Amino acid sequence: MKEKRIGIMGGTFDPIHYGHLVIAEAAWYAFALEKVIFIPTGSPPHKRNNHATAAEQRAEMAGLAIASNPHFVLSKIEVERQGFSYSVDTVSAINQQYHGAAAIYFITGADAVLEIDTWHKPEQLLSLCRFVAATRPGFDLSRLDKLPSAWRDKIDLLESPGLDISSTDIRQRVHDGRPIKYLLPESVEEYIYQHQLYGKA
Ligand code: ATP
Ligand code: MG
Repeated sequence: MKEKRIGIMGGTFDPIHYGHLVIAEAAWYAFALEKVIFIPTGSPPHKRNNHATAAEQRAEMAGLAIASNPHFVLSKIEVERQGFSYSVDTVSAINQQYHGAAAIYFITGADAVLEIDTWHKPEQLLSLCRFVAATRPGFDLSRLDKLPSAWRDKIDLLESPGLDISSTDIRQRVHDGRPIKYLLPESVEEYIYQHQLYGKA
């Protein structure tokens, strides 16, 4: 029986916001995780055509956002890997770091887990970790029951405060000159303005 439980919170984090932080904290508590590793994507396969913010800057914002939480840590494993990042490779690498002795919980929002069949090697991924599917406004978790039962059995539901916040909306707000205060940590807000991210073209 694996005693150590580790959470992985993967995302583009362009930028990181309270929607991400609140589900990571809820999962840490609900599943008695030792820590949650935040892993910003390098060059995300799902967002290949977007002009995403530099991976290094997305990682810096994630680092600022989690600085005040002793059980949140940042991993740049995907940022430092060249080329596209697949979750299955990342989870394998983390699994090896713990010599297979840790139970890994991959934390996602409802929208992401509902698309799991489109991920790279989903069967292999689900053999390496459990999934945590957190509530996200606008996404119906009961749709998970349509997944094959072998997959569904590896997904735990997580009730968390439904924050209707998305990175897309935050980028649009900055672009339009509208406020983003209270949607994300102040340190990240300051970073965005200092580095003039998401500004008008
Ligand atoms: P974008 O709008 O650019 O897609 P996003 O806000 O969806 O950004 P991602 O970096 O794509 O953020 O998401 C990383 C993970 O966090 C995904 O599993 C996603 O489902 C989850 N997530 C993001 N925002 C929320 C939220 N408000 N509530 C619950 N889960 C969320
Ligand atoms: Mg998203």
